[in-house]
Formats: sequence, structure tokens, C-alpha cells
Amino acid sequence: MESTRILLEAHEIPTHWYNIAADLPSPPAPPLMADGSVARPEQLGAIFPPAIVEQEMSLERWIEIPHEVREIFRLWRPAPLVRAVRLEEALGTPAKIFFKYEGVSPAGSHKPNSAVPQAYYNREAGIRRLTTETGAGQWGASLALAGQMFGLEVRIYMVRVSYDQKPYRRMMMQTWGAEVFSSPSQMTECGRKILAEMPDTAGSLGIAISEAVEEAAGRADTNYALGSVLNHVVMHQSIIGLEAKKQFDKIGLYPDVVIGPCGGGSSLGGIAFPFLGDKAAGDKRAANLRTVAVEPCSCPSLTKGRYTYDFGDASGFTPMMKMYTLGHDFVPAGIHAGGLRYHGASQHVSQLHAAGLIEAVAVPQLATFDAGVQFARLEGIIPAPESCHAIRVAIDEALKCKETGEEKVILFNLTGHGHFDMTSFERYFSGDLEDYEYPAEEVEKSLAKLPRFG
Ligand SMILES: *Cc1c(COP(=O)(O)O)cnc(C)c1O
Repeated sequence: MESTRILLEAHEIPTHWYNIAADLPSPPAPPLMADGSVARPEQLGAIFPPAIVEQEMSLERWIEIPHEVREIFRLWRPAPLVRAVRLEEALGTPAKIFFKYEGVSPAGSHKPNSAVPQAYYNREAGIRRLTTETGAGQWGASLALAGQMFGLEVRIYMVRVSYDQKPYRRMMMQTWGAEVFSSPSQMTECGRKILAEMPDTAGSLGIAISEAVEEAAGRADTNYALGSVLNHVVMHQSIIGLEAKKQFDKIGLYPDVVIGPCGGGSSLGGIAFPFLGDKAAGDKRAANLRTVAVEPCSCPSLTKGRYTYDFGDASGFTPMMKMYTLGHDFVPAGIHAGGLRYHGASQHVSQLHAAGLIEAVAVPQLATFDAGVQFARLEGIIPAPESCHAIRVAIDEALKCKETGEEKVILFNLTGHGHFDMTSFERYFSGDLEDYEYPAEEVEKSLAKLPRFG
């Protein structure tokens, strides 16, 4: 019997990250400061270590992964590539469906792939403490883990509603030695100001980012770390696609379509960019490759947003990036895929979408849980609500193949497991989960407040 799991040996963990900035159809648009001037490396250096600033702006195609980082990756990498044979059979599709399973990391998602190198470069730069924000808790847990590995203190501002609703991810962070505060908090000036004005606020990712950045900017021993969106994070995630390529080589196949959920876009870029790199290099196998970014209907940055300069956070502390955005103060509905509730998207993912090289679709919440439960019952793994978005579209693609008889090879990114999201599944089973309409009016209001550049 053929194995459905395609595994690699520890020595096959990639030695270099792939940076798609070297292969974009036109030079990437630079980040801008609030006055419209091009952001200088020193300005980013206030909250990031030199190696990260360099990676953020680099046009080098390959960047070496430090030995110590690869040693830590060995705790769970290489991650398996799995053929979903039982799902194929149940759908009656001639397509071959594969998923890359990132839920094998200690934190349960792809996010440690960037948390570990970010912690490493900060320790190398003599930094003692890191601050960050977290919504549902996946990024906070990953940075807590990585900080522990490199002896860094980690302080996490967790959006108040999640802090109260998702106690288990908070306890994971505490188990890995991090301090976790409900945001807005009394720890920062902006937190105190917001609490004075709105004592009952549920908090937001934008507020939590502002708190984390304020603290990092004000202390020489402290830096800030972001879990998605920025170029260096997307590049760190390329390890997903680079491993998947090796795994497909072993079985003599190549994907026709690559599908991933898209929040800030790091995991999508991570799985897809190495294949798009083949396409840029003229590899015939990639000539007709399609890449599909899947986002929630309630937060559709790529499908309904505007491609322009905007801030990365709600308060306008960060430089502006050219990206698809719904407006930096847009507050999406409280869907259960917390990791997909971001107003913008990675600059490189945005640029490739604008160039027609990445497709995007928005799917409603209930349909994603339908797909996730079907998948769990056939393949065993209970997916994170974010990952359910990719499963929905992978199933839809496989059903199209059933109509046309095409034997396509479909690859999707199973970005994490859902073991700490069971209350979301509970709500789905009890019929309490709802679909949200596209909030056109709210988006329009937010877009009207965009900074006027680009
Ligand atoms: C954060 C998260 C996502 C979204 O990742 P991006 O890289 O920001 O697009 C998807 N799936 C899971 C499980 C996550 O934790």
C-alpha cells in the first residue's frame, strides 16, 4: 500500500529561505512614513534588530537560515505533506488533494516558523525583552515559545475579548514563561487613555499593537515582533513551500493549484512563493500554476479592499505600506477565524494579486465550518477555523474536477489544528454560528480616512 504521508529527514530541512522580492514583476513599492517620505532603515531600527530590518528590505533571492534556528526547527520540522485519500474518495473526485500540515509545531500552527528566527535575531542584537500583540492567541503563544528558547522575556498584549474568552491559549503563553496582559491595559500611555475614555471596550488588535509598539519604542532593551504581514515574516514562512517542493519531487508530482487561508498573508506567501519562484524562472511545470488566497467574507481585504498606501495598525504608529486594505481603523465582525481579522495584507501578496498572479476568493463562515467538520471526520485532524477557509476552497476545486474529469493536483495549507478553538465548533454544532454580510458601509467609511499617498 502506498503511503499517504510524504516525509523528509531532518537533514532535508531547507538551509535558505526564499525571498520573492528578487522575482517580482516590478520593483516593490517602499514603505513610507506618515509625511510621505520613504522609511529609512534607522527608523525601523527603533523597534527591530538590524538583521530583521535588512531582511525586510532585501532583494536577495536566498537568505541563509541560521544553524541555531534550524536546530530548533528540528523539534517539529520537516512538517508532513499528506495526501487526503479518504477525502478524495468521499468526494468522488479524480483530483489528488494534498495538504501541508503545520499543526505539528508545539504551538499548533505555522507561526513559530517566524517567531523562532525573530527571537534569535533579537537575542543576537543584545535585546532582552520582546513585546507583541495577539488576538486569538496563536502568535502570542508562538512568540512565548520562541522567547523561552532564546532566554528572552516576552510581554504580550492580548485583546481583552480573547483574553476573557480563550483562557487556554493564555495559559499556554504563561506556561512558556510570557507575561500576558489584557489590552487595553494600565501598562502603557495609550492603554490608560483608552481605558479612561472607554472603560468597557472589548479591545482590538489595533489597540494591542499600539501598546506593544509604544513599550518597545520607549525602552532600549526591548523590541517589537509582528506575526504576519511584513516581508521578513513572509520570507520566514517560505520554509513551508520549500519543504513541500522537496516532498512533491519525491513522488514525481507538482501542484496545479496552491490554496491557503489569508489573514496577513504570511502563510499563503510561505506555501505559494517557492512555487511562484519556479514560475518566474520559467519552470514548465509551473507554467499554469494557480494560487488562491482565501479570506472571510466579513474581512475581504484582497477581494474588496483598495490597493494603496495605508498604516499597519489602527492608530497610525507604523510606516505605511502599499497593500490591499479595508482601512486601518476598520473593525471586522467577531468571526471565529481570529487570525483572518486583519484590515490589510502582505505587500508582496498584494502586489502579486494586483499583477494577476494570485487569485483571491472570500467565503462565508458557515461554509468553512461545514468543510472543516467534513475534513475532520475523514482525515482525523481537527483544523483551526482559519485553516477551514482553505479546506472549503480545496473541496470546491476538487468538486469542479469531478465535473470536468481533470486529474488536478491540489495543494492546500493546513496552517494549524483547532484544539483550542473547540468553543467555535460547539457554536457551529448548536446552530449559534452566523454568516456576516460584507460590511460595505463600514469599509467605505474606513476607506474615506485613508492617508493620501500612492
Ligand atoms: C494566524 C493564522 C492564520 C493567518 O495567517 P497569515 O499568515 O496572517 O495569513 C492562518 N491559520 C492559522 C492557524 C493562524 O494561526
